[in-house]
Amino acid sequence: MNAELKELIALQNADTAIRRTEAELNAIPQRRAEIEQEFEQRAFEFRAVELKRDEAAAARARLEEEAAEARTQAERSERNLMSSQNEKDYAAAIRELDAARKHISTLETQTLEHMESLEAAEKELGEREPQVAILREETNTKLKELETQMGAQEERLESLRQERKRLEISLPKSTLAVYNRISTRIRGGVAVAEARNYSCTACLITLRPQVMAAIRRGDEIVMCENCSRILYYVPSEQTQKATT
Ligand SMILES: [Zn+2]
Repeated sequence: MNAELKELIALQNADTAIRRTEAELNAIPQRRAEIEQEFEQRAFEFRAVELKRDEAAAARARLEEEAAEARTQAERSERNLMSSQNEKDYAAAIRELDAARKHISTLETQTLEHMESLEAAEKELGEREPQVAILREETNTKLKELETQMGAQEERLESLRQERKRLEISLPKSTLAVYNRISTRIRGGVAVAEARNYSCTACLITLRPQVMAAIRRGDEIVMCENCSRILYYVPSEQTQKATT
């Protein structure tokens, strides 16, 4: 096989590897999202308890604020009671004070209920935490592995691109143009195909004997008459043995 054809095959291999590596790199954000989603799914119950705890804490804060207002109201009613000058003012102040005290008592009961569910949630979170910690650790390991994989693929892509550049410079411009034209036109970008058993392995058309002979000689670029790919021939082990 002539050197030009060898370089064309190398170029094809580089392009195929570049495309595959690019596709793998493009799939990484999706893979990362899947890993994170998997963690969220498995930690779902933990998250639900966290939410319950946060809601109870917020409710308690609200109630405490309301209780402080009710206490101010009660103090005002007490002062009104002390300073009341007649039966009517006195009765009104008593009513207000009673109402304020009842309100405070209700709020205190409610606060206690929320504190109980807050404590229960915190207890449950404490119990589940070790399990979630393991899950989080596993997730981080998976994400780190993905990062390492990504770094290796980026390096590989870089060296493949260097290799492609080297082949581009080395190949005659006209041959490179033929290759690029076929590669951009053909689906999957495979511009070079092996000819085996009188057949193009890409489109499976049968090759005429004189075409096959030319491909075997390998001293010129032969294209498939059907799919236009550049054809090459790999001698079988037996033929290789015969020639050596
Ligand atoms: Zn073909």
